[in-house]
Amino acid sequence: MDDLSSFCCLNPECPLRGRRDAGNLSVRDRYGKQRHIRLLHCNACKARFSERKGTPLSGSCLPPGVAVSVLEHLVEGNGIRQTERLVGVHRDTIMRLARKAGDHARHAHDELVAFSPRDPGDLVSRVSSTVTDFSCHSWFDLIC
Ligand SMILES: [Zn+2]
Repeated sequence: MDDLSSFCCLNPECPLRGRRDAGNLSVRDRYGKQRHIRLLHCNACKARFSERKGTPLSGSCLPPGVAVSVLEHLVEGNGIRQTERLVGVHRDTIMRLARKAGDHARHAHDELVAFSPRDPGDLVSRVSSTVTDFSCHSWFDLIC
């Protein structure tokens, strides 16, 4: 049995779009040279899509371990040609994967920041106004 709990339907018209572990996905087929990439099917909207859709590996023929190795080398500060020599992947493929990973990271950042708490400066001004109000009330209570 395949674990699909981390996947969700990406069809914008699907009622279960973006809901993980909703029980609407199943593995319809496998493809690739080693048939290692799963083709998922959404029971709610009848869409079929690759498990790699929306990821930096979308459209890539690299095995996941090699792609991760390429990205790890880039994260560690290795250059494109140095990564090419170490991993054995052509520099054009490395550049394409790096661009996709960068775009994916930017979208993930924007999505996560959109739901972050209010500006900390605003929090400081609210706390200081509360302290001022409390001080006024305490001073007023002392007089009366
Ligand atoms: Zn769907």
